[in-house]
Amino acid sequence: MRRISVFGATGSIGQSTLDLIGRAPDSYHVVALTGGRNIALLAEQARQHRPEIAVTADPDRLTDLRDALAGSGIEAAAGEGALIEAATRPADWVMSAIVGAAGLAPGLRALEQGATLALANKESMVAAGKLMLQKASKHGGRILPVDSEHSAVFQALIGENIASVERVIITASGGAFRDWPLEKLAAATPEQAATHPNWDMGQRITIDSASMFNKALELIETREFFGISPENIETVVHPESLIHALVGYNDGALMAHVGPPDMRHAIGFALHWPERRSLPVERLDLTAIGSLSFRVACDQRYPALRLAREVMREGGLSGAVFNAAKEQALDGFLARQIGFMDMAGIVEDVLSEISARPGHIHAEFTLDNVNRLDHLARDTARGAIKRLMDRKN
Ligand code: NAD
Ligand code: MG
Repeated sequence: MRRISVFGATGSIGQSTLDLIGRAPDSYHVVALTGGRNIALLAEQARQHRPEIAVTADPDRLTDLRDALAGSGIEAAAGEGALIEAATRPADWVMSAIVGAAGLAPGLRALEQGATLALANKESMVAAGKLMLQKASKHGGRILPVDSEHSAVFQALIGENIASVERVIITASGGAFRDWPLEKLAAATPEQAATHPNWDMGQRITIDSASMFNKALELIETREFFGISPENIETVVHPESLIHALVGYNDGALMAHVGPPDMRHAIGFALHWPERRSLPVERLDLTAIGSLSFRVACDQRYPALRLAREVMREGGLSGAVFNAAKEQALDGFLARQIGFMDMAGIVEDVLSEISARPGHIHAEFTLDNVNRLDHLARDTARGAIKRLMDRKN
């Protein structure tokens, strides 16, 4: 029986992961399930999958979780410390599907136990890719990509020599506003941004898809994960979301990964790797699809892409700053303090303010420094949001 933990079990990726695990319950022993505020769902999942422990990230909801699990024999715990404790319990395979930088510490802890970490939480790769890879190699663990594009690249690289790779192309759906006139974007609301044309995902990543901050994170994730130089990583808008990524080789061949927009493919691939097993995803009918289209991802519509390139150029701890500033700007947009197009300006301000101060971005790459810069970036972003609000009022 494989020992499995799912961090962020109540989210979109977490639920898809449990859907797959629930189809072969005798193959898995579930060690830990973690969630945020949705106690009813976490308890329901725990009663179905029988983990040793269920953890809510919210310390105020421990009593609710205990009550919901009463009589089940499943341990209940709450708070950041409990998440880390759950991540310390030995597991063979761990799904990292918490949203945001909050996924970093539990993911690192699982890697310290030598687990295979199925990584949906791209934010941890962006903020601290170097530490993640170091932990994996030091403790005999492994990181498998779950982001659909990175799973696609991983699959297109099987049996190939990385030295023959000329370029990697990450596709983007273009998000909710890909067909909106540019001048309308400033007035876009969180509700409008949270509707994705092709994928059914959590609220934050859906809005990040509309702004392409998601793709910006993914460009950096590609660099960190596969060690591809930034100038060899491209992105292109592909509205059908059927080709997830392409790897271009030095003989001119492009190997494309084509599949339905269903995260259970990438999750299932990581779950069964190195084998391929049958998965409950749609089989594409190419003649019904007819044609596939591609457009330039322009920096004017998607300034986040330009910022990602700056982050890759700058290196050091700038990924941690970028991710944290982006998370804070998104909070500001969700709270209707700033507009949709203001998010990129806030992130740019934070990057330039912190880069200008010596001793930050190029400090030693440690978890303490990642966390310090994460906090500094959030504070700086809050300041920039406040200044912008003051100017507008
Ligand atoms: P989601 O919002 O649906 O779920 C997030 C999960 O994290 C929930 O279980 C939530 O309770 C938990 N959580 C939220 N804040 C937390 C905190 N501070 N501490 C601990 N737990 C917390 O998000 P999602 O769409 O499932 O995305 C999860 C991760 O996977 C993200 O990093 C996202 O970028 C990545 N991802 C998602 C998809 C997708 O299709 N949904 C695709 C690729 C990558
Ligand atoms: Mg993706």
